[in-house]
Amino acid sequence: MQLLAHGGAGGDPDDPETRQQQLDRAVQAGADADDPEAAVLATVHELEASPRFNAGSGSAVQSDGVIRTDAGLMREDGTTGAACSMPGVEHAGDVARVVAHETPHVLLAGENAIALAEAFDVATDGDLWSEQQRQRWAELDPPDTDDRGEHLRWVREQFGGTDTVGAVAVEGNRLAALTSTGGRWCALAGRVGDVPQVGAGFYASEHAAVSATGAGEAIARFGLSRWVDDTIADGADPATACERGMTAFEEATGDTAGVIAVDREGRTGGAFNSDSMQTGSSR
Ligand code: ASP
Repeated sequence: MQLLAHGGAGGDPDDPETRQQQLDRAVQAGADADDPEAAVLATVHELEASPRFNAGSGSAVQSDGVIRTDAGLMREDGTTGAACSMPGVEHAGDVARVVAHETPHVLLAGENAIALAEAFDVATDGDLWSEQQRQRWAELDPPDTDDRGEHLRWVREQFGGTDTVGAVAVEGNRLAALTSTGGRWCALAGRVGDVPQVGAGFYASEHAAVSATGAGEAIARFGLSRWVDDTIADGADPATACERGMTAFEEATGDTAGVIAVDREGRTGGAFNSDSMQTGSSR
């Protein structure tokens, strides 16, 4: 199994060594899995459980003080599932798996996604607040949501942050990609970014599997994961495709992101235009 995971494109994190250890442990957890889909699920599961990443426990909070999680999963055979806007759901990746395998749909949102998760034994009553997020939120004084203009002005001021997680894996001719997030700090309540959108935060085909991170609105408009996958399909190796993808993304959007990819030959690549993007790899 060739497996590569990222811990988000952003600024230099506090305590990068601990985060690196957690990324490496998460990759180990996935490397023994039976197939690429199980591998990315196991890896992301570990990262969602860590308060040091913006996914599951430790997720960013939205402007109404509620944490909502999103994830998207895809395999080379087109099997795809995503879920978004889920308060209390630590393992959004597991809900994406349920959507992919148990429904005829690609994306489920909010309370109905939570009800589906419950029906398939995915826990939905998690406390996703990390100590750091709790303190940061307590220092803010958000204007009431009833004062729409003032609230939106405040959202524009506060909105930002990264550290989403993702993993891509290949074994033989099977590939899978999974990305999971709490979105971005102080986004307007109900905002959904790139992560559960096919071709934006995640993509897989018979050629490659790709996971993106960074400014979600720009990633979604540009279609970053699909762009990198198409470039690999056209013959580029993953490292070149990720570099080219980031150059084109920056030219088109002027925004910040990172992307990782693996192809069916087991070659990996990653690129980012943020200050840092930590990755862990099985080989
Ligand atoms: N892409 C994520 C979002 O916009 C944020 C991140 O990558 O950390 O929801």
